[in-house]
Parts: sequence; C-alpha cells; structure tokens
Amino acid sequence: MGMSDWDIIIIGSGMGGATLASSLAPSGRRVLILERGERLLPSARDRDADAIFRTGHFRSDEMWLDANDEPFSAGNYYMVGGNSKFYGAALIRYRAEDFSPIHHQGGTTPGWPIGYSVLEPFYAEAEALYQVRGVSGEDPTDPPRAADYPNPAVPDEPEIARLRLALKAQGLNPASVPLGVDLEQWLAGGSTAWDGHPDTCGGKMDAEDAVDVALAFPNVTLRTGTRVDRIIARPDGEIAALDVTGPNGSERLTAPLFALAAGAVQSAALLLRSASEAFPKGLANLSDQVGRNFMNHNCSAVLALHPFRRNQAVYQKTIMVNDFYLTGGPGGAPLGNVQMLGKITGPILAATSSLPRAMANWVAARSFDFYAMSEDLPNPESRVTIRGDHIRLDWKRSNWQTHLALVAKLKSVLRRAGFPIVVSQAFDRRTPSHQCGTLRMGNDPMTSVTDPFCRSHDHRNLFVTDASVLPTSAAVNPALTIAALALRTGRHIRESHFATVPEAATA
Ligand SMILES: Cc1cc2nc3c(=O)[nH]c(=O)nc-3n(C[C@H](O)[C@H](O)[C@H](O)COP(=O)(O)OP(=O)(O)OC[C@H]3O[C@@H](n4cnc5c(N)ncnc54)[C@H](O)[C@@H]3O)c2cc1C
Repeated sequence: MGMSDWDIIIIGSGMGGATLASSLAPSGRRVLILERGERLLPSARDRDADAIFRTGHFRSDEMWLDANDEPFSAGNYYMVGGNSKFYGAALIRYRAEDFSPIHHQGGTTPGWPIGYSVLEPFYAEAEALYQVRGVSGEDPTDPPRAADYPNPAVPDEPEIARLRLALKAQGLNPASVPLGVDLEQWLAGGSTAWDGHPDTCGGKMDAEDAVDVALAFPNVTLRTGTRVDRIIARPDGEIAALDVTGPNGSERLTAPLFALAAGAVQSAALLLRSASEAFPKGLANLSDQVGRNFMNHNCSAVLALHPFRRNQAVYQKTIMVNDFYLTGGPGGAPLGNVQMLGKITGPILAATSSLPRAMANWVAARSFDFYAMSEDLPNPESRVTIRGDHIRLDWKRSNWQTHLALVAKLKSVLRRAGFPIVVSQAFDRRTPSHQCGTLRMGNDPMTSVTDPFCRSHDHRNLFVTDASVLPTSAAVNPALTIAALALRTGRHIRESHFATVPEAATA
C-alpha cells in the first residue's frame, strides 16, 4: 500500500458522510471529507418562497434525464450538509416491523439483513447527535427504545393543539413529530416554516452540524468545491484512488479506505462512471444491482380548510398520525404515515400550483397542510443509469393503490374533523427528496451491493454510508436511519479496520 496523507476519504458531506465523519473523528485517524458544493452562506433569499419554490434559486444547474430522455432539473442539493440543509428535520426511526417483510397491496418488501434491535443503540446515538426533540409513548407504532428522546417535543401552536384534540376525538393517536430543530433560533431568522427552506441560521440540526462536530478534531479536513469524478480500482478489487476536480484543478488522491456518501443517485452514478477494463459494468457491480431498486416514497400534500376559519400557525409541523401505518387498508394492509407539512403560505402555494395568487393567498390563510407518505417498493427496473455525461433517472413508482387509499383515508378523517374542503396533490416526481435503495445492503453478494456493515461485497476497502444502502424505503422520512447506519459503520471501521491496520504514514 502506497503512502497517503489520509486514513480514510469520505465522498460527500450530507447526512451519511457527515455523520460517519463525526463518528471517526475521535479516533485520531486522518479523515478527509470531499464535498462538491460549498458552505451555504446567509442570503436575502433564504426565506423568500418565490426564490426557493418558483425560480429554483438554490438548485444546481445540473440536468438529469427522465425515462423519456427529457432533461429536467432535479430538486437535489449540493452543498456542505447535502440535502439536509433543505430538509424538514423530521427525524423518525423506522418502525420495528419495517425490518421484516411487509405485505402491501402492491407487493411484499424484502426485509433487512439486520433487525431493529441491532440499530436501536445507533438510533439513540443519532438522536443525541442531532438533538432530536420528541416524546415517547404517544404513537402506537413507536418501536421500543432504551431511553427517552434527548429533548422535549416542540410544542403545538394553538391551532395545531386544537387539531390534535379533533383527531383524538376520532379515536386516533396523533403524536409529536420528532424534530431536529432549535425553534427559537429558526424563528429569529424569520417567521416561516423550515421545510424546503435553506438553513443558514443554525435553526435546524443538519449534517453541516455533524461536519462541524468532526472538524473540531484536528485530524479531520474538509475540502469543499471538490468533486469526485472517478473511483479507481485495482484489478484485484482494491480501491486505490479517487480522481477529483477542485480548486487546485485535477488531482488523484489515495487512501487505504474510502466511504462513498454522495447520495443515492450520485453514488450509484459515480460507481457506474468508474467502470474499467477489470470492472466493465462499473465498480461494486458484480451483482448488476448498482443503480437498481431506486425508491422515493409516494407522497401527496393534502390541504384541509374551513372557509370561515383561519390557520395562523407558523411552524405547524408538530404532529403526525401513524394509526394507518401498519393497518388501515383493504384486508388490514398497511397504508403509511401522515405528518404535517411546514405551513404552506400564499407564495408557496402560488409557486407550486396553478392557482392564481389571490386564490392561493385565500386558501393558504385557512389551510391545514398535511403530508401523506406511503412505501415505495424495490423494483430492479426502477433505476439510475448514465447516458454520456448525464444521469438518467427512471423511477418506476410502485404500490400506488396503497397511496391513493391513504390519501382517501386522510381526507375522510379531515372531513370528520370539521373541514368541508379537502384537496390533495401528489408531489412532483422530479424531486427525489427521499431517494434510496440504489446500492442496497444484503447478505448475498449476488443480489446486493454492500454487506450488512455497508461494505462493498466486491471492494473490501470501500464502504457506502448514504441513503443508497437502504433495502426498503418504509413510509417514514429517511435521514435518521441513514445517520444510524453511518454510526454503526463508523463503529465497525473503528473497531475492525482502525484497530488492525496501522496509521497511514505521512507523505
Ligand atoms: C426538501 C427536502 C426535505 C426533506 N425533509 C426530510 C425530513 O424532514 N426528514 C428526513 O428524514 N429526510 C428529509 N429529507 C431527505 C434527507 O435530506 C435525505 O434523506 C438525506 O439528506 C440523504 O442523505 P445522504 O447522505 O444520502 O445524501 P445527501 O444528504 O444528499 O448528501 C450527499 C452529499 O454528497 C455530495 N456529493 C454528491 N456527489 C459528489 C461527488 N461526486 N463528489 C463530492 N461530493 C459529492 C453532495 O453535494 C451532498 O453534500 C428531505 C429532503 C429534501 C430535499
């Protein structure tokens, strides 16, 4: 093994990469994080709904191709902290049942190679890292937890407290959404919701915070504006180097160990782009699974309103309902999760629908806004491929009947709760917010890309620690599960690899 300045190089500083870095930092080993984006700096547009939702100010100019080879701008963000800089900070554990096969109307999930109890301590560690606010015992589907949440739940605003009571009156079990938010800090930056908004005020606990936890250790380095173009594997399978383009031009960086965490679409694309004579189908791809099984949740916004009642809430995202998560559909089939969206305002509604501005303002002043989420099932034909320089994303939605049934159920609940007008709109297919599954973990190297510790079956010094490894999408937001898996892999690397391999010699 040649000399290197680094003991491990992590590709990407999003939820998976940053969390891994925070776990490896105390080891004293030299960790290099490569991030293609820059730090997001405060700007006048941070709370400007038009800039965020209509003109796409924060979007990259990279274009992907859809299944018809039509170019589109994906809602995928490149910066220190990755997509978590824009996230809703709902940090929810998968339910214990999600780790076993589940029968849906649209098919059966494969289950995970590890059970919930294996991940429980790492979920707790992730909740501590992201200072999650929540309360246990409210939600009938809550998985067992060894200890309570690190911080109390974000309180309901008066309108949402009343809504909670109205849902309880129907025998439902509304529960507080576990959130990684410093509410006072967020509201000090502006009286807005946080979903989809960039965080430049420290109001969200996001992956940039984990980057900073790691950077407090002198052995950790972050290089921004540095994009990995190619991963170089020796014919025997060992990963030797990365070809990167950054502020210093093109470079080749070596290390004994690598972790890929560029996000589920970009990580798959990078492995496919790194095809070589010895690995003609791309790296980590002897199974031919790289880029397959792309999942992204089936989601709809559901708006409920009463013409004579206003909703004055600013940060309404404090309750969720999981009563239909495991049952509720035909024959007791699972339907999914319901949670509040960040408050939809007139400008947001006008930017994301065909409503004229005046109508959008009228609706948004009254609407209670919900997010209905159902499981998308893995399908090998739902996949990321590359066409020349472009990423091609052919998302084949699955289990759509389940989603329609969830939306119908929610609408009837809301009508009973006193809202005569309830409308829904499916989320845009071009926003892969909950992308996952493209490098799935499993025990069998013929049907999966990484092992249960997230190590490539084909390249023993390559780990994957982002949303790619999730074998199922469940029907809850993915970030906490990505973080828990990264912490588990971090511990594995510290205990197995760092304990047995000497520190890299300084060049
Ligand atoms: C609007 C929005 C709202 C969301 N809300 C929630 C929520 O409430 N709860 C939740 O759990 N999840 C939410 N999510 C999803 C969550 O943000 C993602 O699941 C999570 O960030 C994925 O983590 P990751 O590590 O897989 O990828 P990312 O966080 O996307 O990180 C990948 C990183 O790699 C970098 N990168 C990519 N390619 C390269 C390259 N070639 N070289 C170097 N660097 C590279 C990227 O710039 C990025 O920083 C939301 C997402 C969006 C977009």
